[in-house]
Amino acid sequence: EYPEHCPPDVERLGRSTWTFLHTTAAYFPDRPSPTQRANMLMLLRALPTLYPCGHCADHLGSEMATHPPDVSSRAALSRWLCERHNEVNERLGKERFDCGLRSLDERWKDGPNDGSCG
Ligand code: FAD
Repeated sequence: EYPEHCPPDVERLGRSTWTFLHTTAAYFPDRPSPTQRANMLMLLRALPTLYPCGHCADHLGSEMATHPPDVSSRAALSRWLCERHNEVNERLGKERFDCGLRSLDERWKDGPNDGSCG
């Protein structure tokens, strides 16, 4: 295990970033205002130039060129992000995630029905 007090490696940076992005998508409005859409687009479009893992940023940039972000609603954004994450999962030999809104909400918003997340 990479020590907790050390600067993030690519894996920890990735986990933290996905946590931020999926959680932000989970709380994005169902009917976002033009300003909310524009801000989300700016946040996402900044990543390929700013994300501090060069090859990750490059991959994301080409992904976003062929699959432009859908910021029209919470559901659309959550799915779009899930699909981009799945592209990385596939490239790294990790399992794909079910991009249905139920699965996404259970993981990033509501937690499982058994109440184990409080
Ligand atoms: P992570 O992939 O970090 O996922 C965290 C949690 O998210 C999982 O435990 C699961 O519960 C949930 N999850 C998994 N898939 C999905 C999904 N599709 N939708 C919603 N939730 C999901 N690493 C590289 O080595 N090379 C790269 O090119 C690369 N590119 C990246 C690009 C971006 C934009 C980001 C944010 C990260 C990138 N990473 C890359 C890091 C990589 O994606 C993982 O974050 C890292 O390998 C740690 O993986 P993990 O198994 O801990 O789970």
